[in-house]
Amino acid sequence: MLDALRRIVQAVNSADDLESALDIMVQRIAQVMGVEVCTVYLRSPDTKRLVMMANQGFNPELVGVASLGEDEGLVGVVARREEPLNLDKAEEHPSYFYLEGIGEELYHSFLGVPIIHQRRLLGVLVVQQKDSRRFDEDEEAFLVTMSAQLAGVIAHAKATGAIGGKNRRRDPSRSAEFKGIPGAPGIAMGIAVLVIPEADLYSVPSRPCDDVEGEVAFFFQCLQAVREDITDIKNRLQDRLAKEEQALFDVYLSMLDDRALGIEIEDKIREGEWAQGALAQVVISHVRTFESMEDAYLKERATDVKDLGRRVLAYLQTANTRDIEYPDRTILVGEELTASLLAEVPREKLAGLVSVRGSSNSHAAILARAMGVPTIMGAVDLPFTQVEGAKLVVDGYNGIVHYNPAPELYARFEAIYEEQQQLTKGLEALRDVPSETLDGHRVPLWVNTGLMVDVAKSIDHGAEGVGLYRTEIPFLLRERFPSEEEQRVIYREQLQAFSPLPVTMRTLDIGGDKSLPYFPIEEENPFLGWRGIRVTLDHPEIFLVQVRAMLKASVGMDNLRIMLPMISNVPELEEALELIYRAHDELVDEGVEAKLPPIGVMVEVPSAVYQARELARRVDFLSVGSNDLTQYLLAVDRNNSRVADLYHSMHPAVLRALRDVALAADAEGKPVGICGELAGDPGAAILLIAMGYDMLSMNANSLLKVKSVIRSHSVEAAENLLERALKMESAVEVRELVRNAMAAAGVGKMLQPNLGEELRPPRQ
Ligand code: PEP
Ligand code: MG
Repeated sequence: MLDALRRIVQAVNSADDLESALDIMVQRIAQVMGVEVCTVYLRSPDTKRLVMMANQGFNPELVGVASLGEDEGLVGVVARREEPLNLDKAEEHPSYFYLEGIGEELYHSFLGVPIIHQRRLLGVLVVQQKDSRRFDEDEEAFLVTMSAQLAGVIAHAKATGAIGGKNRRRDPSRSAEFKGIPGAPGIAMGIAVLVIPEADLYSVPSRPCDDVEGEVAFFFQCLQAVREDITDIKNRLQDRLAKEEQALFDVYLSMLDDRALGIEIEDKIREGEWAQGALAQVVISHVRTFESMEDAYLKERATDVKDLGRRVLAYLQTANTRDIEYPDRTILVGEELTASLLAEVPREKLAGLVSVRGSSNSHAAILARAMGVPTIMGAVDLPFTQVEGAKLVVDGYNGIVHYNPAPELYARFEAIYEEQQQLTKGLEALRDVPSETLDGHRVPLWVNTGLMVDVAKSIDHGAEGVGLYRTEIPFLLRERFPSEEEQRVIYREQLQAFSPLPVTMRTLDIGGDKSLPYFPIEEENPFLGWRGIRVTLDHPEIFLVQVRAMLKASVGMDNLRIMLPMISNVPELEEALELIYRAHDELVDEGVEAKLPPIGVMVEVPSAVYQARELARRVDFLSVGSNDLTQYLLAVDRNNSRVADLYHSMHPAVLRALRDVALAADAEGKPVGICGELAGDPGAAILLIAMGYDMLSMNANSLLKVKSVIRSHSVEAAENLLERALKMESAVEVRELVRNAMAAAGVGKMLQPNLGEELRPPRQ
């Protein structure tokens, strides 16, 4: 059974589009279960009716036409109850109803199971048989398992097929939304420009071709070039390979025959597709066919076809390099955007970014945040090869890409965008006024940095210090560990840029989803694995070099603070402190006049919350990393778009933990700050002040908004709000409370715009 299940899912997965996926599904299920009829009904989001989308056994003309209301028939019962229905005499059920004219009344046995994806009913899967018999437990379990597995495939196929048809051609009248992970906040609107990595068949966009004859001729020219290359390789290897092995190259050459792959590609070009697109589409479809074969030898041929395809594509691409004309509002879209790709677009033209892969910690996202470019990462369902030239709206707050939005929706976003621009302009006046409450309580606003781009913006926005310098960023941008001297230079630049203001340097925080290309960490469960301080304590040579570089860099300025990430127990902290003291002693012995800086601990895991006093006692300050603390307290991966709705830094449990850390630090007489994204949320900032946080450290782009909100509240009002927030039982209630309070204080606009339900698609 398991094998049959796996094979069906694989076959369905490799289908071109939703329609063929469903066809394969019903055929294979009917075959494996030995039933006469198998049908998939999908729920239409517009009419809410269950439409027959694929069928094996009835009249094919019913597909796409026959439909049932949710209160009709047995299919309706399955949909309403969202549970299986297994009947040997379907006609005796009170809700029985049959489709006329196709002989459905002849089928007595009925087994229907709901198709549910992420809590939402997508449709109903039904098998029927003429014999009156109850399907046995195994059969029922098989169909339930099948449906649960296929639900994800159907949801993905629906999403990716949302804007195109079978031929991967775009239908200009369609609009769609795709969900990803917020990479950098903000709204951006513009035109999609696709970045294509070289010779990657899976990233080739579909584009029309104007000169068909020229394109066909060019394609055959490239094919010939590859043929010559392969003959060349074959000749060179003649002495080293046995006859049978050489025969492999003949197979290759025959695949390249004009009458084999060549003719199919030519046909596609003649249908109007450019050569690269035609090649990619034909090759990918052959690769899929080979991959789904049972025979191991034939399965392997998929690799050969892919290799040949890449070779031809490389020729097509070298001659086709185009000078990209970036439109004024470019939304850069790619399968995996890299930091260097961003640099290629003139800054004034770059409006937004969308990457199919990657997380909020990918280089592209880090750079985008520093540059203030709204970004979405991990938009896995976006059929990126089809979006070139399309109008897109990037909602970097919620991680949603709106493809070709309807004019009214576009206008709404345009209005929000304009409002945000105005707001930013208006805030400039706050740069030089103090960050203090109405009753004069000072709240230092610091910034989080990592790249040099952050520095200018931070100083420009009146930052009073750096609460988190992410040292892993310069490490991420290299091809090996930077040497002590290289690090010293980088760190000195940071310290100097802010001197005499304090700069808090965090020791290397890799692992989780931040892995260095030259030091890969591959684990089953990376966020609970080897990350942060755990890595550097296991590699004291890396830690010591880094601390030495920091201490040396600070000579003469003394504005350095050192902070330790991911501390989860006291011995870890003690070991790290020992190493820092050792590095300092060594330098003193070497005659370097480095002072021992203030040392702090990041509170990012629940154990550190409960031991905050023990930790605080041993260091000079605490700083909460609310990004990780939220993910560990709520058990919600911060980079998983499937559970993004559950990631709430204003969850009552997180608020209580934050308050407890502040109380613990206070009890030990140590200052406490916060450097997660929450500090840059203007509503949350008020709660944090009331909890007693001494410093808030945030992305420079949030600084003036937070300052504006602080200046419109008194400490008493903040304490009042906190008292009420701590009584709330859900994150949604806390958000609502804070939103209302900000509106009442006249600073509602400073919060992330409320892109209400009508601007956001429901959970897919
Ligand atoms: C945090 O976890 O809140 C934090 C500031 O660290 P990072 O986001 O770099 O993990
Ligand atoms: Mg962290």
